[in-house]
Amino acid sequence: MAKLPVKKLLVTGGAGFLGSHLCERLLAAGHDVLCVDNFFTGGKANIEHLLKHPRFELMRHDITFPLYVEVDEIYNLACPASPVHYQFDPVQTTKTSVHGAINMLGLAKRVKARILQASTSEVYGDPEIHPQSEGYWGRVNPVGPRSCYDEGKRCAETLFFDYWRQHSVRIKVARIFNTYGPRMHPNDGRVVSNFIVQALRGEDITVYGDGRQTRSFCYVDDLVEALIQLMDTADDFTGPINIGNPREFTILELTEEVMRLTGTNSKIVFRPLPADDPRQRQPDIALAESMLGWRPTTELAQGLERTIRYFQQAL
Ligand code: NAD
Ligand code: UDP
Ligand code: UDP
Repeated sequence: MAKLPVKKLLVTGGAGFLGSHLCERLLAAGHDVLCVDNFFTGGKANIEHLLKHPRFELMRHDITFPLYVEVDEIYNLACPASPVHYQFDPVQTTKTSVHGAINMLGLAKRVKARILQASTSEVYGDPEIHPQSEGYWGRVNPVGPRSCYDEGKRCAETLFFDYWRQHSVRIKVARIFNTYGPRMHPNDGRVVSNFIVQALRGEDITVYGDGRQTRSFCYVDDLVEALIQLMDTADDFTGPINIGNPREFTILELTEEVMRLTGTNSKIVFRPLPADDPRQRQPDIALAESMLGWRPTTELAQGLERTIRYFQQAL
């Protein structure tokens, strides 16, 4: 069988939750992987098992500063992703999305690399259409506590499309919906990690608001598969493209599922809903199905079991 060409790939944010899984999969496919991370939310522990791999290289670097390397493709994932982390230093969050995008696009332009942006369902804000399809422009508060993330990611999308129109950079924009799995940060405040950690420790499970708000949860392996397939699409396909699991759950349903699977004695407590918390979120993935022939295959219970096993060891 003919050997596939080895590509030199850059993964920014590669020591984070999604990035570490992506690095693993790209190495397994036979490529050279350069992981760039400033370790703000990610850590060496996530990629420790890759450090000795002959085709893996780790570089500590903040993408708000220029980066001169030679690569064929760039997966731009660097950015804190959970509200607790992106609101810790909101100015740095916007800089990471905006200056980081400019630098990575400048790099892509110079070396003629393909570049994929990890955008987010947050570009839709608190949406008034349901489910959200790519043609929807969103309803985002430009001056609230979530704006550094939402508007930063929106501006990054603008930059990607301007580098494509103005400089013919080959771009791919993925709008990622809530994703979960092993290596989520235990203190990042996201709902799946919070509930599992609370359940395993026998602490109260904190439901914000009345728990009737919805989210649609995608298991990390499904997500990573879609990102790789998206990078491999023809040059004339730019996205934006929704990547997520369309199966929608209320936060209370998620609570019940985590309690059942962990067998915890924890009790549910209700806490105030954070500002600008979207009421409902569900991806329309028709475009991903038709363009990539992709749909997620991991059921929530199956993905939660694997994530619970990870946290049982990590805690
Ligand atoms: P994460 O916090 O685990 O990973 C982000 C990584 O980026 C970390 O390793 C962090 O140290 C690094 N980083 C942050 N700022 C940096 C900078 N200035 N320079 C270099 N590295 C920097 O989060 P994640 O869940 O793995 O998210 C990865 C990407 O996917 C993010 O861009 C996020 O916005 C996007 N995304 C994630 C989700 C999700 O549900 N997990 C949903 C939508 C979008
Ligand atoms: N850049 C980078 N690596 C490169 C090429 C460019 O980090 O290999 C940065 C560079 O510092 C610049 C940004 O990307 O600030 C945008 O580059 P571009 O060429 O688009 O713009 P210009 O250099 O003309 O401002
Ligand atoms: N949430 C919750 N309890 C928690 C953490 C989050 O009820 O301990 C809720 C949160 O208010 C939101 C949903 O779960 O409605 C998803 O929150 P997360 O921060 O994981 O993701 P995002 O809001 O960015 O989609």
